[in-house]
Amino acid sequence: LLLAYEPAKRLARVRISLETGIVGVRMMFQLADRPLTLAEKPDAKPLRPGPGEIRFEDVSFAYPESPPVFEGLDLTLAAGKMTALVGPSGGGKSTILNLIMRMYDPQSGKVLFDSQDISDATIASLREKIAYVSQDTFLFAGTIMHNIRLGRQDATDDEVIAAARAANAHDFINALAKGYETDVGENGALLSGGQRQRISIARAMLRNAEILLLDEATSALDAESEALFRDALQQLTVGRTTIVIAHRLSTVHQADTIVVLEAGKVVESGPHKTLLKQGGLYQKLYEYQLMP
Ligand code: ADP
Ligand code: MG
Repeated sequence: LLLAYEPAKRLARVRISLETGIVGVRMMFQLADRPLTLAEKPDAKPLRPGPGEIRFEDVSFAYPESPPVFEGLDLTLAAGKMTALVGPSGGGKSTILNLIMRMYDPQSGKVLFDSQDISDATIASLREKIAYVSQDTFLFAGTIMHNIRLGRQDATDDEVIAAARAANAHDFINALAKGYETDVGENGALLSGGQRQRISIARAMLRNAEILLLDEATSALDAESEALFRDALQQLTVGRTTIVIAHRLSTVHQADTIVVLEAGKVVESGPHKTLLKQGGLYQKLYEYQLMP
């Protein structure tokens, strides 16, 4: 069912052009297909800085004209740690990220950043704190240089290159005939999924946000890309609250905590070893390598 949404979204993303001047927050959040419809409260205030804890408190949520995804969800995502969300398709993993980014608001309950209800905050102050990385994030017209710089518009060329190095992207970019000036509108399709994802990591590095949301690609990477990606991710996540929808076992292993979601409920959570011993859903997903 979900697959039906995807092609339309992709098309919408491809249409975004750097020349339109819609940059920064909107660009980062791929809002071309999702206007900023959520109302900000008239007295909305910027979020105060904090260690970066995210808490779902008794959250109930349904998409418009759809059955509930969450009913009374409680979930704490620890500050500065990496939490992997795993579980069967349709369980609510992407919806958690949507609610954190305030693409939607819950019908009841609260999403709190360092104990502040994000629905009381300005949307700009919320999204400033967040970097969102996914394989699809990359599809904007313009050069690789421009695409990485979306992370921070005032970054110098040297800063962009440093971010690309940290993301293990510099070498393959350099090997392209036009290097950083390669137009991804024309050549995006020539890049592999792993390369696109490392560009997207470089952008997040440059952004230096407190909170990192990562929606991993389901497609398998070759062993080299996988290792390069894992290293880059490790650098990026240090000390940041990271929430990753994990499909790769290597990412799951890296996580401090794994939250197993099934049909909108947290059925298990804990570190890898503990969950494996428990012999529940996680153990089944893991043993059969069924990270969907
Ligand atoms: P997961 O990421 O774990 O696969 P999702 O959070 O994408 O799960 O989906 C949770 C539920 O919400 C599923 O039943 C899915 O069909 C539904 N859903 C997801 N996105 C939408 C949407 N935009 N409109 C209506 N229903 C949706
Ligand atoms: Mg999903």
